[in-house]
Amino acid sequence: MKHFKFNNLNIIYTEKDDNVKKLLKSLPVKHIILPKQTHSNNIKEYTCNLDNCDGIYTTEKNIALGIKTADCGAIVLTDYEKLTIIHAGWRGILSGIIENALDLFEDEIDFAFLAPFARSCCYEVKEDFIKNLRKEEFLYLKNKNSKIYFSMEDIIKDKLKNRVKTIYDTEKCTICNKNLFSYRKGDIKDRMLTIAWLED
Ligand SMILES: [Zn+2]
Repeated sequence: MKHFKFNNLNIIYTEKDDNVKKLLKSLPVKHIILPKQTHSNNIKEYTCNLDNCDGIYTTEKNIALGIKTADCGAIVLTDYEKLTIIHAGWRGILSGIIENALDLFEDEIDFAFLAPFARSCCYEVKEDFIKNLRKEEFLYLKNKNSKIYFSMEDIIKDKLKNRVKTIYDTEKCTICNKNLFSYRKGDIKDRMLTIAWLED
């Protein structure tokens, strides 16, 4: 488990050897909210029905918002008043979940956090994936040893950089990091959990 603190923002992401149930019981928060993720671009306030939902937000303090991933991105955005966390895999990213998250904020956003996800060191893609990309997204494909890799880190950062003052990237790849769950590596059921909350 890694715990980060930036002003009144807390972020935790779990690793393979963590006891997640125990961790959740020990969090000093009022509620822990996990949506029913479907790779959609829907973001809802935490008090709503969170079926078919891949992002949650709140302006309340001590409400922990969580997203489960294994290769997809979890991104936290905050101005330290409003907080959102989104599940940003390639489907969500290409269908605009990052733009939807940015739209929750009127002004410049102070801070973004990128949890571990599949990075361009390992995220090999084939034609069946590439056909989903628009022309302007081809720049996120990298050629290496006659294989093609997708840079989720670059597409995420490009979408954030004009609106977010500080982007904190863990720079960790789920595929080549042994202590993180990766769907591509064979972790079909297990997920990492990224949780964020604002303190009073
Ligand atoms: Zn890697």
